[in-house]
Amino acid sequence: MIKRPSSKTKVLATLGPACSSPKIIREMMKVGVNAFRLNMSHGDVESRTQMIAAVKKARADLGIAITIMADLRGPRIRLGRLESKISLQRGSKIAIKAATKMGRDGVLPVDYPRLLRDLKVGNRVLIRDGRIALKVLAFEANIVLCRVLTGGEVSSNQGVNLPDSVVSAPALSAKDRADILFAVEHELDWLALSFVRSAADIKAVRRQLEKHHFDMPIVAKIEHPLGIQNLAEIMDTANGIMVARGDLAVEMGHSVVPTLQKRMIRMALEHSLPVIVATQMLESMIDAPQPTRAEVSDVANAVIDGADCVMLSGETAVGQYPVETCRFMKEIAMTTEGLQFQDNWRLRPSIEPHGGQQAGSPEMATVKAAVCAAENSKAKLILAFTESGRSARLVGSFRGQAPIVALTTNDRSYHRMSLMWGVRPGMLTKVDRIREMHRFAARYLEKHHVLRPDQFLVSLTGTFAVSGATNTVRLIRFHQLV
Ligand code: PEP
Repeated sequence: MIKRPSSKTKVLATLGPACSSPKIIREMMKVGVNAFRLNMSHGDVESRTQMIAAVKKARADLGIAITIMADLRGPRIRLGRLESKISLQRGSKIAIKAATKMGRDGVLPVDYPRLLRDLKVGNRVLIRDGRIALKVLAFEANIVLCRVLTGGEVSSNQGVNLPDSVVSAPALSAKDRADILFAVEHELDWLALSFVRSAADIKAVRRQLEKHHFDMPIVAKIEHPLGIQNLAEIMDTANGIMVARGDLAVEMGHSVVPTLQKRMIRMALEHSLPVIVATQMLESMIDAPQPTRAEVSDVANAVIDGADCVMLSGETAVGQYPVETCRFMKEIAMTTEGLQFQDNWRLRPSIEPHGGQQAGSPEMATVKAAVCAAENSKAKLILAFTESGRSARLVGSFRGQAPIVALTTNDRSYHRMSLMWGVRPGMLTKVDRIREMHRFAARYLEKHHVLRPDQFLVSLTGTFAVSGATNTVRLIRFHQLV
């Protein structure tokens, strides 16, 4: 295992042409990236397969836990394929239609079969993160005639939003189902679904996974007004959420996003769910070697809000400085955590563990006791033995000071835990007795975590090898572990 910068808030970088080489992927890991996202809306099977192979090889060579997340397009609408860029002039008229590519008629293709059904006269059609705005004037046969309200250039595959319409697309398209199969075949670690509107959308993904007899945690990307409206039921069903600020701003207006971000992070913590803050975090670094002051503040504020993970999109996928951007993001997270620690409000006696399926359970009470014991004794770390990663996630959700060393025998849990706040995953050889497990853990800690024999740690165990049965907290000095 190499030594590399470590922050409690994790860094998730989007893979793309700018960082597809094995060398760059390895460099990104070395400067502290914890997870990679494959945006299934872009690229092809061949390039994705190569990037996955590069990440898997590098994480094995470096001996570190790294999540690979497949981000499904879901009911997100995009332009079809264009031969070249098209410039739309403000005030002019433009025809659009449901099609996957531009034909001889020159009508702008929108890759959404229900376009005509969902649009009404007067509705807005927004393209490229809302930078281009059209207004529906009339319908003619299979064509929608629009006025350009805000002009600009458009090109293939750019995102389209219909903020005034009720988008009736099902949660999963045929492409999404094929992408889920791809993720299963490559044994990826997490799935994310775009434009989640209700718990039913998440259940649709889970049904597909069940069909393939494969279990994968699912992140609900919250970027649509219905996702906000149904947040509680989505959090009861999903395994994590993403504050997908790009589309959220287009759909709901820019100025509501900062407070929605804070609300979503707080709710996710109450549900003990990992939460990712995404989009334009260091956007200017797509073309510049340094971020702006405002971007640095944005990342720092997400860290202070208590996000599990901060995400890079275009910065690493298509930017000129993918490694430098990751290095900056890690540095901002580490510096912020060092200077201003999160308010661990969930430990206050007055706060009841409300929300989430674990609320009030013996397991949750044990986890909270472990975090309190670590806080009060200034323990060096919390040691969690975990099969599924669940107890590490629950411990992390309290945002205590002590790092969480989460040991597992399960290779998939090991990588999955890498995007959870404060968690340092480690692999444990399968053993049959708790005593042996502790002996292994002592050797592991000696090698990787430099504890003095008299320093305190908190160990969290359960009924052996049963997930969800965490019931024992020990506050001990390191030399008492075995
Ligand atoms: C977003 O809209 O903020 C977002 C994360 O979406 P995408 O997957 O298109 O980057």
